[in-house]
Amino acid sequence: MHADDRLAAINDRIAHAAKLARRKASEVTLIAVSKTHGADAIEQLLRAGQRHFGENRVQEAAAKWPALREQFPDVTLHLIGQLQSNKAAEAVALADVIHAVDRSSLVTALARAMDGQDRRLPCFVQVNIGEEPQKGGCAIADLPALLAEARGADLPVTGLMCIPPASVDAAPYFALLAKMAREEGLPGLSMGMSDDFETAAMIGSTHVRVGSALFGARAQPEVQ
Ligand SMILES: *Cc1c(COP(=O)(O)O)cnc(C)c1O
Repeated sequence: MHADDRLAAINDRIAHAAKLARRKASEVTLIAVSKTHGADAIEQLLRAGQRHFGENRVQEAAAKWPALREQFPDVTLHLIGQLQSNKAAEAVALADVIHAVDRSSLVTALARAMDGQDRRLPCFVQVNIGEEPQKGGCAIADLPALLAEARGADLPVTGLMCIPPASVDAAPYFALLAKMAREEGLPGLSMGMSDDFETAAMIGSTHVRVGSALFGARAQPEVQ
């Protein structure tokens, strides 16, 4: 299948899932996760009309996106991976949305970088929704305090993000994240990947992050 056919197929599946849940397809933004993929593969999707992309590493994004943005200035670049505080300034300069704010030191670093660059990026706070020790994201119990801190630092938090545990049904975790966002009055929900984006779209996801279903399998091992 060509890139534009794959893109159309994913968009159709999102639209169908949204319709079943009595939502509008336009409420669900498809983020094409282009990590490990080169400019050629990305350009195929750009030419097919895709405009939201996700990268998980600042360095890789910095190497690929400035040139692509010159050709396609209306791109929205989402940084979806774990972020080190010492990369916050570079991340703020490069990206349009940050998806993995998960700790106090990063809130401080991002707020400082945004102040310094006079640029405010919408942010998602990542929740470790399955309480897995090896995973990023703030603990469920720590969320209210972290959100309070983000508000205090004037960090524009628009929603919550999660990566549910692998190999189990993701739906209960998506539902839990949706409930937490509702309770906190946050409109955004970044959840759903290649294997479960339709489920996520039905449960209220506003941003699905789809990599392999759009680009094919990744060759390089990834750093989570
Ligand atoms: C790689 C990645 C994705 C996309 O994963 P696929 O299973 O390839 O769709 C989504 N979210 C995050 C945070 C990722 O690192």
